[in-house]
Amino acid sequence: MRALVFEEFGGPLAVRSVPDPVPDRDGVVVRVGASGICRSDWHAWSGHDPDVVVPHVPGHELAGTVAAVGSGVRTWAVGDRVTVPFVCACGRCGPCRDGAGQVCAHQTQPGFTHWGSLAEFVALDAADVNLVALPEGMPVATAASLGCRFATAFRAVTGVGRVRPGEWVAVHGCGGVGLSAVQVAVAAGARVVAVDVAPGALELARAFGAEHLVDGSAGDVPAAVRDLTGGGAHVSLDALGAAVTCTGSIRSLRPRGRHVQVGLLPPGAGRPEIPMELVVAGELALLGSHGMAAADYPAMLSLIDAGRLHPELLVTRELGLADAGDALVAVGRTPGIAVVTAF
Ligand SMILES: [Zn+2]
Ligand SMILES: [Zn+2]
Repeated sequence: MRALVFEEFGGPLAVRSVPDPVPDRDGVVVRVGASGICRSDWHAWSGHDPDVVVPHVPGHELAGTVAAVGSGVRTWAVGDRVTVPFVCACGRCGPCRDGAGQVCAHQTQPGFTHWGSLAEFVALDAADVNLVALPEGMPVATAASLGCRFATAFRAVTGVGRVRPGEWVAVHGCGGVGLSAVQVAVAAGARVVAVDVAPGALELARAFGAEHLVDGSAGDVPAAVRDLTGGGAHVSLDALGAAVTCTGSIRSLRPRGRHVQVGLLPPGAGRPEIPMELVVAGELALLGSHGMAAADYPAMLSLIDAGRLHPELLVTRELGLADAGDALVAVGRTPGIAVVTAF
């Protein structure tokens, strides 16, 4: 098969011919129809993730068609149109039994723990636990964005942040996750303040319903958010994963507000300063959010089906695999999501 391969961290990304994957007993191989290019792929390529071993094929936001099925798989067949969370759960450990596959103790992640989906085919583990059927009529390019950024944002806003109608939500960083969070928060009836340094990203946030836009490169961002929201956000998300956005998000909250850390804060991003005096004095909650388990997809899919969420609006570019390497290196420089749809 053709795949985007890198041999060394930060080195050239080249399309090469590599052996086709074969399914595990409980796994499947999917013919990739679309694979998004995400900041996490950039982290994998940059050597920020200890799970990644070179040579490596990145890619974890995918949708496609089941092409081969392991002998132990019960619920999926060749030809099924599917997507998958970027965290593939084992289905058997304590967190999985508690319905929290997104923090599975034995999780695998395509594009990190094994070769990913910027390729013609990708192997996925524990298919009965992790695959999600695509709604009829949903294009694969749209579905590819669900597996990581949109689902991550959906759970961060609804499941972890528990955003309620009328609340103020601040979104720090309007890349794929942040813009998804803006959409989800607006659909939940919240009022949104969007923060970014890129005018194009802020314009998209406005188009998705953000009420106020804050230029992240100018002045005291938390003070601006507190001012615009009459005392601070009820919920604030660091959707980028940087020391400055993490601290800024916490400082944007009103008393009893909830900070949700969604961005990854990899080594090299710097350790954020946590203003613990504000956490105590304001009874702030600091919460982490890590993807979304397949079992939680139906609530999100039904809102998409009802026309209340529009993940397709996040996809601003469709590419061929030959252009994926350049797009991965430049991820974040152009607003919206790039998706590879020709392999
Ligand atoms: Zn991702
Ligand atoms: Zn598990």
